[in-house]
Amino acid sequence: MSYVSSAERYEDPSIRRSGRSGLQLPPLSLGLWQNFGHDRPFAAQREMVLGAFDRGVFHFDLANNYGPPPGSAESGFGRLLRTDLAPYRDELVISTKAGWNMHPGPYGSGGSRKYLLSSLDRSLERLGIDAVDVFYSHRPDPGTPLEETAAALDHVVRSGRAHYVGVSSYSADASRDMARLLRDLGTPLAIHQPSYSMLNRWIEEDGLLDVAEDEGFGIIGFSPLAQGLLTDKYLRGIPEGARGAQPGSFTGDALTDDLRDRLSALAALAERRGQSLAQLAIAWALRDARVTSLVAGASRLSQLEENLGALAGPELDEAEIAEIDGLAVD
Ligand code: NDP
Repeated sequence: MSYVSSAERYEDPSIRRSGRSGLQLPPLSLGLWQNFGHDRPFAAQREMVLGAFDRGVFHFDLANNYGPPPGSAESGFGRLLRTDLAPYRDELVISTKAGWNMHPGPYGSGGSRKYLLSSLDRSLERLGIDAVDVFYSHRPDPGTPLEETAAALDHVVRSGRAHYVGVSSYSADASRDMARLLRDLGTPLAIHQPSYSMLNRWIEEDGLLDVAEDEGFGIIGFSPLAQGLLTDKYLRGIPEGARGAQPGSFTGDALTDDLRDRLSALAALAERRGQSLAQLAIAWALRDARVTSLVAGASRLSQLEENLGALAGPELDEAEIAEIDGLAVD
């Protein structure tokens, strides 16, 4: 049966503007880094993406290398665009990136003009669309002049391949330089995608939030749940099938007894607020208006539903923020 999206999908009024750009995003966006490769049935991917859109999540975050194998998350999303989402294309914010390893050789990673442009062309082929909404330089590349990366980003907008451009994981200083280069070229930097969670606060210490405000770009924090650590799932060990159960995973390695104790105390604070730990983590990361959105992952729709519940929760007061600071540190 053909898909018809929920008529209530824009009922939550909390859409936020990315800096001083025209780009507007839902407070929670869906990331397709994990759980959207060939290792997951298409039906499960479809349920999550369409379920997200029905609930007001109209921003989907991709990269050239998301899978496995690299490229398959974009191919799968492209298939969904054809089967279900084509009538809604103009409502969606689809982002992709290039910067990390995509293929062997010097033009399979980095920030060169050749890599960024050829990678975006391949992404558009996989997605089956003429332009993405946001194209990112996925990482700083010390080997390529910032001017070259800036000119490539400017070109993707001028050539109609993307509507906005962003950077990911650039330091505060490099972001300021990039914002100024892009402004001079006439294509403003619209957005920055850094990691951000209670357990990872580098953007506060580095000054990136201040630079974002000064230069007028938005922040979309990735991994706000610390890849699942900031949820209720690891409080009593590592459940089968979770990301932390994979050998050598970040979550499995990070989960010490001390961290589990602190997560349990955070979960108790969340419970006093009528929330789950994931909901507390999301509410915390969104407490600063300079954070436009968070891009979280999910392995099932029920996780996303729970996470969206954070948006209806009470605001954090100063005492709660101080308690969190005492429990969750970098
Ligand atoms: P999160 O911190 O949001 O972790 C998501 C994982 O947490 C899920 O896969 C799931 O783990 C678990 N989870 C989520 N909600 C719940 C819940 N309610 N209850 C229990 N467990 C839950 O972020 P990710 O690390 O997945 O990254 C999110 C997105 O950020 C990526 O998809 C990508 O778009 C972007 N990203 C960008 C990067 C960059 O360099 N720009 C780098 C990394 C990510 P499980 O699968 O085990 O169930």
